[in-house]
Amino acid sequence: MKAIVYRADKGIVAETVPMPEIDDDQVLVQVANTGFCGSDHSLIRSGGLMDGYILGHEVSGTIVEIGKNVQGVVEGTRVTIRPSYCGTCADCKAGRPYFCQNSRRSIGIGDLPGAFAEFVVVFPQMLILVPDGVDSRNAALAEAFAASLHAIACVGKTSGATLVIGGGPIGLAMIRLLNVLNFYPVVLSEPVKEKRNLGLRLGADYVVDPNSDDMQHFAFASTQGKGFEIVFECSGVPELIQPCLDTAARGGRICIVSMTYATATIAPITFNLKEVWLTGSYSNTHEENRRILNWMSEGKLDGKPLITDLIGLEDLPGVYAERIETGKAVKVMVKIGEEF
Ligand SMILES: [Zn+2]
Ligand SMILES: [Zn+2]
Repeated sequence: MKAIVYRADKGIVAETVPMPEIDDDQVLVQVANTGFCGSDHSLIRSGGLMDGYILGHEVSGTIVEIGKNVQGVVEGTRVTIRPSYCGTCADCKAGRPYFCQNSRRSIGIGDLPGAFAEFVVVFPQMLILVPDGVDSRNAALAEAFAASLHAIACVGKTSGATLVIGGGPIGLAMIRLLNVLNFYPVVLSEPVKEKRNLGLRLGADYVVDPNSDDMQHFAFASTQGKGFEIVFECSGVPELIQPCLDTAARGGRICIVSMTYATATIAPITFNLKEVWLTGSYSNTHEENRRILNWMSEGKLDGKPLITDLIGLEDLPGVYAERIETGKAVKVMVKIGEEF
C-alpha cells in the first residue's frame, strides 16, 4: 500500500510499504482522510522518530477487516479514532485517559503505525462511530476539535469574555466552539492577516494583530475595563504567557493549550494582585470526540473552513516543506481513499 514514511536522512517521503495485517484483537480501517496535526510537525522536527515510522492520527475511514476476538464491531462501519487507549490503569478508569502512562497503545503518535497510509491497524477501543450526516473530512477533524473542547472544560467556565492567542488549527477550532457555546465576546489575537480573517469567519467577535494593536489597551477597552475572564494560549510562544496574565480579569482563568518545552518568564505578583488561575490542557476523551461528532451531525458545527489545503497522499512531503514548515497552512487534510 501507499504510505508516507519518516526517514531519518530525508524526513517524510512517499513509499510503497507491505499491507498491514491484523492480530485477533485488532481491526483494519481503510483510510478516507487524515489531517496533519501540529504534533506531527513537532515529532518530525524533534528528530526522535524511528526510521520507517508512519505518522497520522486524525483519521476517518471504514472498517474493512475484524480480528476474530473482536466483539461488537461491524464491517463497513464509518469510524474515526481516538488514537490512544489502555483502559486498564487508574487514570483511564477514573475517566482521565489523557494522563495514561503505562500500558497505552497509540497509532501515529506512539508505538503503532499511523494513518498517512491507505490502511491502518487499530484496536477496537480506539474506534468512535461516525454518526449520520458527518462527512469524512469533518470526521477526521473531530480529534482536533475535541482537543479544544477539552481545554474549554479545563477552565471550568461556561460564559465570559474570552481571548484566544494564536490562530492555528487548535486556536481557530477554539474560536468556533466558543461561538457555538455562546461565549461573548470572543477575541482572537493572531499576527497573520489570513488567519485573522478566518477567525472572523469562524465566529470571533473581534480580531487583533499583536504586532500593531496595543493588546493591553484593547483587552480592557473591549471588556468594560475588566480584562478577559478566560484566556487560551494556543500559539506555543513562551513569551506570550505573561501577556495572558496581563490581559486577564481579576479572578480570570488562563489555560495553556499549545505544548512547548521552552521556559517562560512570568511575574508572580500577577497571581497575587489578580488571583488568576493558571492551568493547561492535554489531549481529550472519547466522550469529547462524540460530543463534537454529534454537533457536526446536528449541523451546529462544520470544521471544513479550517482546511486550507486538501491534498493527495503523495503531495504531503512537498506541502510539508512549502506550506506547513513555513506556517502558511492552517489545516492540511489528506485525501487518501474513498471519502464519505
Ligand atoms: Zn492531533
Ligand atoms: Zn491507561
